[in-house]
Amino acid sequence: MLLNTYSRFDVKFIKGKNATLIDEEGKDYIDFTSGIGVVSVGHGNERLANAICEQAKNIIHISNLYRIPPQEELAKILVDKYKENGGVFFCNSGAEANETALKIARKYGEVEGEIKRYKVITLENSFHGRTISTLKATGQPKFHQYFGPFPDGFDYAKNIKDIYNKLDDKTIAVMIELIQGEGGVNPFDKDEIKELESELKKRDILLIVDEVQTGIYRTGEFYASNLYEITPDIITLAKGLGGGVPIGAVVTRLTDVLKPGEHGSTFGGNYLSTRAGIEVCTILEEEKTKGNLDKRIEYFDDKLVEIAKEFPNLFDSVSGYGLMRALKTHKSQIRDEIIKRAFEERVLVLKAGSNSVRFLPPLTITSSEIDEGFDRLKSALAKVEE
Ligand SMILES: *Cc1c(COP(=O)(O)O)cnc(C)c1O
Repeated sequence: MLLNTYSRFDVKFIKGKNATLIDEEGKDYIDFTSGIGVVSVGHGNERLANAICEQAKNIIHISNLYRIPPQEELAKILVDKYKENGGVFFCNSGAEANETALKIARKYGEVEGEIKRYKVITLENSFHGRTISTLKATGQPKFHQYFGPFPDGFDYAKNIKDIYNKLDDKTIAVMIELIQGEGGVNPFDKDEIKELESELKKRDILLIVDEVQTGIYRTGEFYASNLYEITPDIITLAKGLGGGVPIGAVVTRLTDVLKPGEHGSTFGGNYLSTRAGIEVCTILEEEKTKGNLDKRIEYFDDKLVEIAKEFPNLFDSVSGYGLMRALKTHKSQIRDEIIKRAFEERVLVLKAGSNSVRFLPPLTITSSEIDEGFDRLKSALAKVEE
């Protein structure tokens, strides 16, 4: 028996190959969700499977009392893309990565044991996780029900410009997504973000960028921060990094803030998850270098724009970058109906925000899977009643 925390589709998948899933009756589905942006190199990826398998036959876990070679290797990959000297802390999920970022910020704001600055500004419509403090960091009132009392020290800005109104002498950090994912796939303006980065730097307020969803090539670049040409003080990662093996990471230039014993994780950065992370990053780096990833992104974009034009009765606009995309519908009932109909036509899509149909396909999706998925989506859309 399971706790009733999810409303699930009544389907059991028993086989997966790249962006295609097979249920127990043998019916195939096109997966435009990759398990909410997790299965970045597709289902049943042989290289990833072999890497994990080899690692599992040797050492899965040792503990962070000893050096872990794949952890050091993955840290180097993450720091190389960061464009600053930095360090990495590994954990197991996005919420934990954000918790770690908040702890680094709070400690940075403390001077000789005295709390000087502790406030963290986040944005309305954001999503930062399900622990008590990351729920509080999430700028959506519906997440602030039931579980209080919540920790103090969070405030919410309406948009990037409004952040300046919220900064005060107690503010230690601003935490944002560059493209809000759960909030509806809403990218922020690049110039506004670059200006925010330099303003915060002037005031010695940390910029934490939650890249749990946008990180590891989801937007076409390794970090969305690369796309926005910024170098945040702290970047948090999780979803796509392990290709489905649970892993979270914090990348930061603040390498001296946390001292031994002040933070830790039993499972964080173990041999298995970091070996998976290395393989995922290596596969995707190759896809990027060969131009395959950019081609897929373009192809997907063409299809998305086409379908939005074909169904102006349902859609307002197309949003997002890379393979983190959405179709914005006129209203939430339409959106919910589309997701249901799409499932009936055997193409999996996600919801986001109040009215977005979200697409997070594997970054390795083939053009024939894209074709098939959009054909099915069209059949589904033709059946949607306005
Ligand atoms: C999914 C997500 C999280 C939470 O990650 P978990 O691994 O579920 O804890 C945090 N931030 C963003 C932007 C996310 O998309």
